[in-house]
Amino acid sequence: MTDILDTPVATPVYTVPQERKIVTAVPGPKSQELHRRRLEVVPPGVSSALPVYIAKANGAILVDVDGNQFIDLGAGIGVTTIGHTEASVVAAAAAQLHDVTHTLFTITPYEEYVRVAELLAQHTPGDFAKRTVLVNSGAEAVENGVKIARKHTGRNGVAVLEHAYHGRTNLTMAMNYKASPYATGFGPFAGDVYRAPNSYPYHDGLSGAEAAARTIAYLEKTVGAADLACLVVEPIQGEGGFVVPAPGYLTALQEWCTAEGIVFIADEIQSGMARTGEYFASSHFGLVPDMVLSAKGIAGGLPLAGVTGRAEIMDSAQPGGLGGTFGGNPVAAAAAVAVFESIESNDLLAEAKRIETALVGGLTELQQKYDVIGEIRGIGAMIAIELVQPGTASTTKAPNSDAVNAIVSYATQRGVLVLTAGTYGNVLRFLPSLATSDALIADALSVIDEAFAQL
Ligand SMILES: *Cc1c(COP(=O)(O)O)cnc(C)c1O
Repeated sequence: MTDILDTPVATPVYTVPQERKIVTAVPGPKSQELHRRRLEVVPPGVSSALPVYIAKANGAILVDVDGNQFIDLGAGIGVTTIGHTEASVVAAAAAQLHDVTHTLFTITPYEEYVRVAELLAQHTPGDFAKRTVLVNSGAEAVENGVKIARKHTGRNGVAVLEHAYHGRTNLTMAMNYKASPYATGFGPFAGDVYRAPNSYPYHDGLSGAEAAARTIAYLEKTVGAADLACLVVEPIQGEGGFVVPAPGYLTALQEWCTAEGIVFIADEIQSGMARTGEYFASSHFGLVPDMVLSAKGIAGGLPLAGVTGRAEIMDSAQPGGLGGTFGGNPVAAAAAVAVFESIESNDLLAEAKRIETALVGGLTELQQKYDVIGEIRGIGAMIAIELVQPGTASTTKAPNSDAVNAIVSYATQRGVLVLTAGTYGNVLRFLPSLATSDALIADALSVIDEAFAQL
């Protein structure tokens, strides 16, 4: 295994110039040809938000097969948080490829898995003994978190919140708020999942204490605390539209869970791994969850996910009850070790705060010009704007998904890739990699400004 600490830290050298450049119509002819081939062999259930086929990626830039260069404000939904093809991650994964690619940790173990578990124990909130199970995807982490909480408590109930997103497997389909497109027609669904109101300050106007009281009262009435194994919460909701709960909401829920013997599971799959300027977003709220789920940003683009929890909870699963063929793959685990090292050695938590300043500053100027921008919210490099119908920002806040779609399409044509979110599709979310310079953010926002002007 490559010891990253032995490698001198250098200023990043980019293999692709960090600039936007459009040389064909978008999508270009080669992307269109690939799209034609894809339609023959890939079902429409796997859709693509943006029709450009990518040939190369580096830093904050994606290069498509036609030679167009895009500023990537999505980072594969918050996966390449430390930048596309970041040199130390590539080096660590390449070295690992030569040493060992697979043994199966549940047969013959290896150090990289143990190292990732040590790093997660160190960097997740809470100063107590922890254990980590590594798996392949976010949804698989959610499934394992619920499995372990059920075993530990001897209870079945799973509580989730409105506007939540937890994945596309059978259990997680039942845990999502939105039926379409994630669940429609794919039943029967897992039982014993209960959905409570969340804290959504822009719409409910409640304080954290009031919103928590509402969530708790709902769960006490409709399930009863004694039947709940776990409460699964995204500290900042991802697909739901970067909904940041009111101060005090999450800690009030944690206190209730602790008092009632319910396992509090923080789904930090999108909000974790330095994205918000802390290793995990829970820390912004003083929250110390019993279990933390990580995935997306953990391995710089390689598939890996983790379930990290209090030792006494995690130890309740029987030997052989947890695992899977590819879980904690050595190459993905080596990449994750490099990601942790890079966060430290390049002070990426500070970079996330820099990006917040640049994005919120620029978006605030846009909000003064365009009254469809109802709210700017988020923390670190996880910032969103919620778009409303003209003239409704101080009244009904009626969702405006048409504006979101028009802006995404305009920006794509001009070399800026931006993602949507929100239960009503009326949120634009910015999840740039931490390698995105202030100059690139300013350039991207100038395109978004034009897009708003065209509405
Ligand atoms: C993406 C996501 C998941 C699912 O992760 P996959 O790797 O796509 O299975 C679960 N929870 C949250 C908060 C996510 O953002």
